[in-house]
Amino acid sequence: MASLAQPGQRSSCWRGAIIRAGAPSKPLELRDLSSSLLWLQACSKANTDFQMASSIISRDVAAATASRSIARLMSLLRLEEVLCMLGALGGLGSASPYHSFCRRKAKSWLATSLRQGMKSGLVRPGKDPGLDVKLMLRICVEDSTAELMEKEQLAKAHLLRALDIGFEGSGTLSLSESDLVGMPEELRRDWAAAGWFTGAYSAHNQKLSEGSTGRSSLCAGKYTVPTGRDSMDRIMPYCASASARQRLFEAYHQGFSAGEVNSAALDLLRVRQSLARRLGFRSWAAYELRPLAAAVREPDAARQVLDRCWQHAQPALAPMLQKMRQLAIGCSKHSAGDEVAHIDEAYLRALASRESDHLKLAEFLPAEGALKRMLETVGRASNVFFRHVPGQPTGIATGWHSGVRVYEMLDGPPSAAGSARQDRRLGFVYVDLYQRRWARRQLAPGAVLIAPGHVYVGLHYQAPSYGSTKLLAPEDAITMAHEFGHAVHMLCMGGCMQEYDDLPLDVQELPSTFFEVLAAQSSVVEEYARHHASGGPPPDTLARSVQQGPQFFARKLRNLSVGLGLHSEEFDAGNASPRELQAAAVAQWQRYSPIKAHPGFSPLGEDAGMYLALGANQEAAKRWLSPEFATRLRSQLLDRPFPGQRLASL
Ligand SMILES: [Zn+2]
Repeated sequence: MASLAQPGQRSSCWRGAIIRAGAPSKPLELRDLSSSLLWLQACSKANTDFQMASSIISRDVAAATASRSIARLMSLLRLEEVLCMLGALGGLGSASPYHSFCRRKAKSWLATSLRQGMKSGLVRPGKDPGLDVKLMLRICVEDSTAELMEKEQLAKAHLLRALDIGFEGSGTLSLSESDLVGMPEELRRDWAAAGWFTGAYSAHNQKLSEGSTGRSSLCAGKYTVPTGRDSMDRIMPYCASASARQRLFEAYHQGFSAGEVNSAALDLLRVRQSLARRLGFRSWAAYELRPLAAAVREPDAARQVLDRCWQHAQPALAPMLQKMRQLAIGCSKHSAGDEVAHIDEAYLRALASRESDHLKLAEFLPAEGALKRMLETVGRASNVFFRHVPGQPTGIATGWHSGVRVYEMLDGPPSAAGSARQDRRLGFVYVDLYQRRWARRQLAPGAVLIAPGHVYVGLHYQAPSYGSTKLLAPEDAITMAHEFGHAVHMLCMGGCMQEYDDLPLDVQELPSTFFEVLAAQSSVVEEYARHHASGGPPPDTLARSVQQGPQFFARKLRNLSVGLGLHSEEFDAGNASPRELQAAAVAQWQRYSPIKAHPGFSPLGEDAGMYLALGANQEAAKRWLSPEFATRLRSQLLDRPFPGQRLASL
């Protein structure tokens, strides 16, 4: 662990964090980046440098200095955002009044200087590297457009809050033992009366930590089941009682159709419609799709891609549907004849596809071991090597939370698998396995480039109870592979945060999706899955259960269809009511489902709700066409020799 910087040197820490001079030599010490005042001083310095630029006589030098200073100011603001998220700057939870003051100050400097720079032509959008095009767009448009952009952000935040309430579920159902018939005990355990005391820990972990005597007390009595998404995920596939499934399904979707979700979604769609037209696009979908690959650049083309996927998926989907229809006969009052009712769909699919194997595989995914082996697997496939940094620089001395594990990422040998490792460091990865106990809400997993050469990967699994082993669901392991894919990409590209942000969404997600697909292959599962007690690999049938079937992609199609349809000219948000929005969403969903939607169903209660709120990142358009980006694409993706032997050895 490197020593802490002296107070006098600390203001230069900010500069050091945003400017990369080769690979970083030591892990980032958050403690050095915890002062609002020093941060503001660094911003002030960048702003002064910008002001000085206009007095430079050579136009080229002046432009280079101006855009470099503006880029620094932007990087500092971005870094500030990430550090606040990590709780290292600005106060715990929400920002302190003093920090809020500093932030406002820095933002106003940026807005003034940026306007000045664009007016004088010293700062050129899309041409100078490291500049936040989104922000520049917001500053150079007319006030009325800027106001719409502001409104769009607010409406989006409002919809996300409404969705959160729906996902959480606002009520509970009281279910008896016979209502939950067929459900494995570990799935219903936290709903039992005694379960409320330990509800914070995942079901699997409790099963491990409790002795056999603890069990009987939980089996008797009623279960209090929240009507949220987590209960949907457990009950719909595994509960054999058709009436219990119906009660939960209807209560859950009622939360979406009767709550604020539809009206919040409508508000958002209306603002986006006006904003897209103001920016010269026919619809928000047209605006968002523009920076993506040619095949989906227009809404109509994107629709054709979805239609083609659906057609091509038919032969793969048919056998499962056939099996489900056979099982449906006489299975439930909802399904007439061999028709599969929407309420029975997940249950029949689980029966037909042995989804319970999925649960058993968790025994082979103890979190610590899976993390270590997953890093090895991702490293082998991308020709890098992760090494745990001994004497972790976490805890009070450096500002990192004590649960954070630090790894350095080293480059692999130049080509053939046989040659010696170079051990050239590409950067550091900070892995946060568990959600903090005091966290109010579940954080989504994600990878963030904190500063050049430093990536934070927050997996945010629920922590196990004291002394017990955390077991991961197979989806958790896949998520891990996905986020490490982002980390490898961020450190290999070697650019600053803004340069990574400017990559179009499809390019950003390509490497991470590759690792996700890789981690789902049964032969790769055998590499990273080991039984928590015996250490043995999983049997073949279990390893195969991780692979996403055609059903998974069909579900994706339905959710994408809702987002695309509601944002395109097919739906006129300006003249629609919340009920019409729901009907339009169902129609979009139905396009790619052989099973008829239940009358109470709200597609926004599935992933479609999040897709609708978040949208894609459309701000990279100008950067995408720059020669600099093309060079990067070549060197990182197209020209890069892929170590085929290493992949084969997996
Ligand atoms: Zn991703």
